[in-house]
Amino acid sequence: MSEAGEFQIIEQFFTYPSFGAWKSQGVGDDCAIIDTGAGRLAVTCDMTALGTHFFPDADPEDVGYKALAVNLSDLAAAGAVPRAFFLSIGLPRRDDGWLADFSRGLMALAHESGCALLGGDTTRTPEIDGRHAPATISITAMGDLPAGMGLTRSGAQPGDDIWVSGTVGDAYAALMCRWGRWQVMPDAEPRLFARMDRPTPRIALGQALLGAATACADISDGLLADLDHILTRSCVSAEIEWERIPLSPVLSTLTVARQHEAALAGGDDYELIFTAPPAAAERIFEAGLLSNTPVSRIGRILEREETAVVVRTADGLPVAVPSTGYDHFNAEDPE
Ligand code: ADP
Ligand code: MG
Repeated sequence: MSEAGEFQIIEQFFTYPSFGAWKSQGVGDDCAIIDTGAGRLAVTCDMTALGTHFFPDADPEDVGYKALAVNLSDLAAAGAVPRAFFLSIGLPRRDDGWLADFSRGLMALAHESGCALLGGDTTRTPEIDGRHAPATISITAMGDLPAGMGLTRSGAQPGDDIWVSGTVGDAYAALMCRWGRWQVMPDAEPRLFARMDRPTPRIALGQALLGAATACADISDGLLADLDHILTRSCVSAEIEWERIPLSPVLSTLTVARQHEAALAGGDDYELIFTAPPAAAERIFEAGLLSNTPVSRIGRILEREETAVVVRTADGLPVAVPSTGYDHFNAEDPE
């Protein structure tokens, strides 16, 4: 498609300063962080469509789980405690088996994370040429924050370290395997596919980073794309050391070119990428231990330069940066 990209659409048509009694920084962070006067709320809204975010025949239990997980991941990026969500769902037809499985996956994660379903809307998807459009699910999730706290994408400072949780690139590698383009050992597939189908929102880590991290985002579009959101909002640049980027054992078996593609440009990992001053490194390691989440220091924030991010090997050689980030209006369609 040659339309303007997703982010250009948001900037051009949907970015307005916030107004009214509830104060927030407005559009541009993983969550809107709202001062209600009585406390601080983090609110996010993510839409999932079968055929876009999922294969049309995806396991409905996974669809339910992941539809909520991606929203909880945005709450994690703000450091918020998940409290409630609203579910709007458009269905092509009534299929009670599909709905029972979808609801089981959704509510398993809702219970696990203490996030209650408080409302929503249910409708039929539009009919075009005699066929209904596939299911579309929109979730709005809300969490709370201690007074005056909350992580955004805009606080990164030159000299800060750049950190990432868990491992990156697995979800993209799983997608490539599902499409039949890449192959891994058959016994490695289930774990790889689980990273794509059932991502773990880093909720406890996000909360443990409050007051320690200067900026944070979750990795939905790709490590470099989501880091770029932090860099743009914080008006800074960054350098990354390739060997420091945490890869899973299965990703490490792929060619280096595929590792670069998956770890730097692949999306859907739902890990956190965040920044903190070097003096806070002990606190960050502690936050990782407390939340039982591995954390790795992968680079440094620089003063704003012409190039937003450079990736280098430990020997100082430049790594060619693969084209980055998933953009719904500039995307290669899955076959
Ligand atoms: P995320 O990947 O964390 O869900 P996105 O990249 O989808 O965030 O969106 C970037 C920012 O733009 C977010 O602050 C989001 O709330 C905002 N946004 C996206 N779509 C719209 C829209 N249609 N109207 C207003 N704000 C939007
Ligand atoms: Mg996000």
